[in-house]
Amino acid sequence: MPVECSEKIVDELPAAPIAAALLAHYDAHARILPWRTGPADHRAGERPDPYRVWLSEIMLQQTTVAAVIGYFEAFTARWPTIEALAAAPPADVLAAWAGLGYYARARNLIACARAVVAEHGGQFPDTEAGLRQLAGIGDYTAAAVAAIAFDRPSAVVDANVERVTARLFAITTPLPAAKAEIRTQVAALLPLARPGDFAQAMMDLGATICTPRNPSCLICPVAAHCVARIAGIAESLPVKPPRKPRPARTGTAFWIEQDGAVLLVERPDKGMLGGMRALPDDGWSASRNGSDAPPISGQWQRVDDVVPHVFTHFCLSLSLALYRGPQIDKVALENLTGGSWWPVEQIAQAGLPTLFAKAARAAIQHR
Ligand code: SF4
Repeated sequence: MPVECSEKIVDELPAAPIAAALLAHYDAHARILPWRTGPADHRAGERPDPYRVWLSEIMLQQTTVAAVIGYFEAFTARWPTIEALAAAPPADVLAAWAGLGYYARARNLIACARAVVAEHGGQFPDTEAGLRQLAGIGDYTAAAVAAIAFDRPSAVVDANVERVTARLFAITTPLPAAKAEIRTQVAALLPLARPGDFAQAMMDLGATICTPRNPSCLICPVAAHCVARIAGIAESLPVKPPRKPRPARTGTAFWIEQDGAVLLVERPDKGMLGGMRALPDDGWSASRNGSDAPPISGQWQRVDDVVPHVFTHFCLSLSLALYRGPQIDKVALENLTGGSWWPVEQIAQAGLPTLFAKAARAAIQHR
C-alpha cells in the first residue's frame, strides 16, 4: 500500500550494513572508468591521481560519463600532468574543450591549474575547504575530489546519489528543498574506512541500478533497507519541481569568406560561450534576441535553414547570413572586429563550440 507522500517516513537506517553492502557490490561491479583507480588496486595501496580525479569531476559537471570519456582521454594524453595543463595556451585548452559545453568550466580549469602549480607546488589541497578556494571548485566538486582522491569522509551528493538517498530514506520533500536532508543522510551513512570508494559506490548504484526509471530493485545490494522500495514509491522519488519552460531567443551568425578563409572572432571572456572562437553574430544572449545587424554593410544572402540550439536556460534559433561582396580589405576587417581569418578547409580544427560548428556546417552547404 503506497504511503502518503507528505509523511515523514524514516529518520535513520542502519548505516554500517548499508555501507558494507554497497562496498561489497562496488568491489565486484565497479564501473571501469579512465580516471578511476579500481577497488582492487585501491585496496592494494594504489592512490588515485588527484589531477585526473579533479579533471574528470570538472568535465562531468552537467555532462554524461559517455560524453566525457573521449575528452578526458584526449586531455590527459595531451596534458598528462597539472604542470602541463597550467603551461598550455588558453586558446588550445578552449579549443580542446569545444563541444563539451558549459565553457566557463574550461576557463576555470586553466585558472585552477595555474593556481595549483603557482601557489601549491603542483599539489592539490587535500581538504574540502582548501579545494573550495580554487577556481571552478564548488561544494560538490570539493567533496568529490576530497573523498575520491584523498579518502576524506566527505558527503558527495551528485544527481545519482541524490536519487539513491531519496529512495533509500523515502524522502518525499520536493527538490531542491530536500537537498539538505539528503546530504545529512549521506553523511550519516559514510563509513570510517574507504569513504572515497563509498562515494563512488553510491554513484555507481545510481548510474547502473537505481536508475531514474525502472530501478532494478531485484538486484540492488541495499534493497533490504530501502524504504521507498518497501513502500512502493521508488520510481516517484526524488520529487522534482515542475520544469519551467525555456524562453526562446533568436540570433544571427554571419559567414564572411574570402580567398578560402572565413572570419572568426573570439567571444568576450564573460557571457555565453565566453572566450571561445566563433562566427561573428548579432549580440544575442540568454536575456535578449540579437539585433540581426551584420558587422559590415554589403550584400548578404539569408539562408533559409535555422540552427536550433538548446542552452540550459533558453532555446536559441540561430539564423545564418552569408556575405556576398564587395571585395573586403581583410586586414581592415580584422582590426574592426578583432577577428582573424581561418582556412575553411580546416574549420573542424578551429575549436568552435557546438552551436557555431553547426552554423559553420550549414554555411558551407550554402556557400
Ligand atoms: Fe534504488 Fe530499488 Fe535499490 Fe531502493 S531498492 S536503492 S529504489 S534500486
